[in-house]
Amino acid sequence: MQRHSKFSKLMIFVLIAVLSLTAFVGCSQPTAQVHHRVMVDSAIEESVTKTPKYIFFMIGDGLGAPQREITEFYLRQMTGNPSANLFMNTLDYAGMTRTYSYDTLVTDSAASGTALATGHKTNNDMIGQAPDGSNLKNLVEAAQEKGLATGLISTTRITHATPASFGAHVDHRDKENEIAEQYVESNIDFFAGGGLRHFVPQNSTLVSSKREDNRDLLKEFEARGYSVFTSAEEMRDPARAIREQDKVVALPTSSHVPYEIDRLNSKQDAVSLVEMVDIGIEVLSKKPNGFFMMIEGGRIDHAAHAHDPAGVIYDTLAFDESVKRVYDFYLEHPDETLIVVGGDHETGGLGLGIKRNYFLNLEVLDDAKASIEDATKAAYVGDREAYFEFIAENLGLDDLTREEKEAIIKAMDLEDSIPGKKGEKKYDIHMWGYNGPVEMTTANILSERAAISWTTYAHSGSAIPLTAHGVGAENFTKFLENVDVPKIIAEIAGFDLGH
Ligand SMILES: [Zn+2]
Repeated sequence: MQRHSKFSKLMIFVLIAVLSLTAFVGCSQPTAQVHHRVMVDSAIEESVTKTPKYIFFMIGDGLGAPQREITEFYLRQMTGNPSANLFMNTLDYAGMTRTYSYDTLVTDSAASGTALATGHKTNNDMIGQAPDGSNLKNLVEAAQEKGLATGLISTTRITHATPASFGAHVDHRDKENEIAEQYVESNIDFFAGGGLRHFVPQNSTLVSSKREDNRDLLKEFEARGYSVFTSAEEMRDPARAIREQDKVVALPTSSHVPYEIDRLNSKQDAVSLVEMVDIGIEVLSKKPNGFFMMIEGGRIDHAAHAHDPAGVIYDTLAFDESVKRVYDFYLEHPDETLIVVGGDHETGGLGLGIKRNYFLNLEVLDDAKASIEDATKAAYVGDREAYFEFIAENLGLDDLTREEKEAIIKAMDLEDSIPGKKGEKKYDIHMWGYNGPVEMTTANILSERAAISWTTYAHSGSAIPLTAHGVGAENFTKFLENVDVPKIIAEIAGFDLGH
């Protein structure tokens, strides 16, 4: 009987595989071949018999192999445990994803977000649209079609490229006001992240609005049955009971959520990624048909753009804590949960090792208490002594060599000589990136002391790791295209992504 039922099962799989192959004939996707192999893989048995009810797609923005690795090394140093692992690196299955976009070998976050959300490569800057401008169906829409609840969480503005790729369709990522408007219509059940400034009318007293009209999207959300939260205090107010709500928009910051390193060292009790994830799980797990959640650790990328090693490490640790929280949910629903943890591209061209050294010196990061992009950048406003005190106190740079100090003074001379307000892009970004000479010089001094290096202020074109756990996770153990990831998720979850 046992043998017979196994044989019948096998026949069903063969049949499904044949039917699938037939269905793919004529499919012009270059990745169809990979897809076939995924379908006929003997490991697919579990996926065919089990469909996950709860799907977590976790994306570390800028989370390449070196970002995972430096954070794991630092974790070992922090804990004194030489075999400590990032939680995301202990999941059952691992694969790799190529990241190039339709028009360049080095993707931006819009094209990579679109690839991960829709299964289509597109041009840099485009959100949820093909290069010809047509809208592409994304995983959120496919999940909604199947009756699942959906949620988007990010530490960036929720209108930023990665979350936008899962909830909007626009021809340029900078159209954040339009992305916010599309969210109102999206029927997504849970939003948490930064970016309040794109949802409030110009005359708002909450924050300085970035809108060019007087639409109050928060009111529009409320009219559609959402509960709206605009600060950490509101999110934690027992009278508002955010966890009990049916549909939630939680935007505790005007722009991005603070870097984890600044959150940890600040007296303000800002909302953390894991707190947003925890609330999201509670809100969405009340839904009867399961859910699809996209969770982004969005500022790993920003820290890497700013060549900020401690910023990268702490935001990656915060993302990893969220993976652990999601894994705790998996333990309660092991037969119904799929967790996929990947990235969209590597940022910074982070090199673990410099010159002819065969060592890293991550101990120098122990005294880092401030991000480069937000805190250190704000620290130089013309008072040189105050800046040197700041970096001594907050970055452990209290013993600058003569060369290091001269390099910073030279950067200050340059910065002071250029008219324009701090924060405006008044520098040559090819020379200094998106920040400025003083903080970039400081960041590079700290990096060199740690024996690490950066090749770019932008992204790099390297392939990146992905790990997965739970129902169907074995299907990700390939050298994949980024566009394969959502296709495989859709296949396992029984979504129609329209491919
Ligand atoms: Zn990105």
